[in-house]
Amino acid sequence: MNVDLHSHSRQSDGALAPAEVAARAHANGVDWWALSDHDETSGLAEAAQAAQAHGLGFIPGVEVSVTFCQKTVHILGLNIQPDHPALQAGLAEIRRSRFTRAHQLDVLLADCGIAQAYAGALKYVENPDLISRVHFARHLLQEGHVKSLQQAFDRYLGEGKRAFVPTQWATLADAVAWILAAGGKAVIAHPGRYKYTPQQHDALFSAFKDLGGQGIEVITSSHTSAQYKQYARMALQYGFQASRGSDFHAPGIGRTELGRMPPLPDELTPVWLDWTQESL
Ligand code: AMP
Ligand code: MN
Ligand code: MN
Ligand code: MN
Repeated sequence: MNVDLHSHSRQSDGALAPAEVAARAHANGVDWWALSDHDETSGLAEAAQAAQAHGLGFIPGVEVSVTFCQKTVHILGLNIQPDHPALQAGLAEIRRSRFTRAHQLDVLLADCGIAQAYAGALKYVENPDLISRVHFARHLLQEGHVKSLQQAFDRYLGEGKRAFVPTQWATLADAVAWILAAGGKAVIAHPGRYKYTPQQHDALFSAFKDLGGQGIEVITSSHTSAQYKQYARMALQYGFQASRGSDFHAPGIGRTELGRMPPLPDELTPVWLDWTQESL
């Protein structure tokens, strides 16, 4: 079975409409798919409807921005009830922080000689409730300040770079609590991407486990094959279920394509087991 439980639409920083992501998942042979936009659930109704039309199994998801040990961590909420009030209130607060950050980014980029970046980024914002660094990156690329989206992060927007704004997102405890309250499972997204010391890394996994977090993403596009093995071991070690998700954002970006990843290693318990069996 081809399961892809991590993807984005233009309701956050992806390039396609939710129905277009559904069609692409179906065309790529995905059997079960989750849309998991950053801090936003407004694409889920369209996604569910499109998935149904394609006969594609659908899991409503969200990717919540969290700050842990002064670094950003992404926590996936999978199989959530999107309209849960505590979840919605939490996500709305994070989206407000995104706009505060965007205004600070405008000032920092002006200091770098790039004027009116906020207005420029807004041209790429499709969902008026959500602004992302990716929208700034698209503007910097379009205006010729950088040669690629990656260069926009490497030169200006990435952690510690000239226009980086440290932002206080949700706490790990709040994010997990909202996801569980909304009936979902909490899953640490792409654990291989966080630049933690081994001690901080263990602190994240242990705290997440204690809070009721259930899973970690093992197979995801930003992991190397060595990291597939490393996080498979860690899932067993900490007693986590395992997830598989492409983190698809847009056609033609790197190796990230819906449904195109190795299967989950046999020894792991998939996060989706109860959901996909229930519907048989
Ligand atoms: P934001 O959530 O607004 O801080 O933006 C982070 C998003 O930027 C990620 O979800 C990725 O989609 C995208 N991104 C692309 N390249 C990078 C990079 N080098 N560092 C951080 N984010 C990146
Ligand atoms: Mn993203
Ligand atoms: Mn992420
Ligand atoms: Mn993602």
